Amino acid sequence: MELITDTGWADGPTAVEPSLTGDIDCDVVVIGGGGGGMSAALRLAEKGVDVVLLEAKILGWGATSRNAGYITNSVAADPELLGFLLKRERLRELYRYAENAVHFTEDAIEHHAIDCDYKQEGIVMAAVSKGQLRHARRNAKVLAAAGSSGEFVEGPEAGLPEGFLGGIREGVGGTVNPGKFAFGLRAATIAAGVRVYESTPAVDVVDTGDRVTVETPHGQVRARKALLITNAASNSLSIAPKHLATPVWTSLIETEPIPPERLDEIGWTSRAPLVTLHMILESYRVTPGGTIAFGTRRLQTGRNPLPERTPAPHVAEDLVRGFHDRFPGLRDIKAETAWGGWIGMSSTWLPVAGTASENVLYSAACNGHGFAQAQYVGHMLADHVTGAPRHEDLEAIWHGGKRFWPSFVSNPALYMGWVADRTVDRWAALWK
Ligand SMILES: Cc1cc2nc3c(=O)[nH]c(=O)nc-3n(C[C@H](O)[C@H](O)[C@H](O)COP(=O)(O)OP(=O)(O)OC[C@H]3O[C@@H](n4cnc5c(N)ncnc54)[C@H](O)[C@@H]3O)c2cc1C
Repeated sequence: MELITDTGWADGPTAVEPSLTGDIDCDVVVIGGGGGGMSAALRLAEKGVDVVLLEAKILGWGATSRNAGYITNSVAADPELLGFLLKRERLRELYRYAENAVHFTEDAIEHHAIDCDYKQEGIVMAAVSKGQLRHARRNAKVLAAAGSSGEFVEGPEAGLPEGFLGGIREGVGGTVNPGKFAFGLRAATIAAGVRVYESTPAVDVVDTGDRVTVETPHGQVRARKALLITNAASNSLSIAPKHLATPVWTSLIETEPIPPERLDEIGWTSRAPLVTLHMILESYRVTPGGTIAFGTRRLQTGRNPLPERTPAPHVAEDLVRGFHDRFPGLRDIKAETAWGGWIGMSSTWLPVAGTASENVLYSAACNGHGFAQAQYVGHMLADHVTGAPRHEDLEAIWHGGKRFWPSFVSNPALYMGWVADRTVDRWAALWK
């Protein structure tokens, strides 16, 4: 298996945009060119705002081009736990926001004619044990009460692979090739006339009340307002609220192509993309190329400045072990390529947006479920920064305060999560 530092989904662009040299002025500067930052910049350009987009590497280089490609209406935290912790109305608002994010991204694919293999298909939050199936049933009730579209499915008619007992089939969304999506959105952003500077990290942001100044290695941007959409790197800038996002490395593996009849043989007739109900999820999906992409299961925290890296070999091996356990009928299938990316985890495990200072707004921490959400939030922030009242979906994730609790996400905690998941797996195997 080859461990790579880039995304395995698509080749990056052949030509890069210039980096910033010298000092420039604009109305709004967007820092971070992932799906969130590009979507914000596109919205600002559409509104005729003079916008500059700064990206440390190339647009789409971060999690946006590296993820598993699920366009999902789920939020990171467990629905049952959220149902216990939050008021019903708050839960409804959160799931409304997540569902609208799915539709926003679907519309963006269509509007910008992005060729990214989008397939509308019911992602299944799937159970691999009787305990998880009971959990799924309870989650389905919480989701229904929160107005989230999805249905509980079980048994052979669900068309899930052997060993997957059932789960919740999401009623909206599906999968894309996120690499093709990210670089397609990049092309749309450049074509829209956004002033894009690649290889240009913001190293400091100062808000003096009358304007914001962003320092970069070889120049300065002076703007009326700034949007900070830097995901896992959020806390590398001192203007960001403390503890906004803990960087967590997430890994993904792609197999060699698999003949379709092999998938039928193991019962995966629906080809539904799967996410397990473990504490740290496992995801398995069939790609348009007939390979399986699978990931997560084991997470590791990092520190800013975040390094370019590959998955750790022992994590990749553990993922392959998990693949073999879930799909014993595919043990001969080779894992070919492994890559990963950094996600930002908030201390509440919920998505957030807010105000870092008078003229600097941020969004962050879609907690590994932010592919559609980051873009939707970027779009809504763009409207808000230009004077529109906060959209009700932006309000649903708005953080009024200036501080966040320190996160309990740490390497020992994540390791314990993995140990707990494997213990439950072992018990489930014993009681089959
Ligand atoms: C392996 C993996 C699998 C995932 N699977 C899914 C999934 O299936 N579904 C889902 O919904 N979510 C998934 N996610 C999460 C999802 O990809 C992210 O939540 C989402 O893409 C975040 O978008 P973003 O624009 O906020 O961040 P990013 O795409 O990370 O973009 C942030 C950008 O900011 C740039 N940047 C950082 N600091 C600076 C700076 N100082 N100056 C300038 N630029 C800067 C970075 O280079 C980067 O390009 C996954 C993530 C990973 C890593």
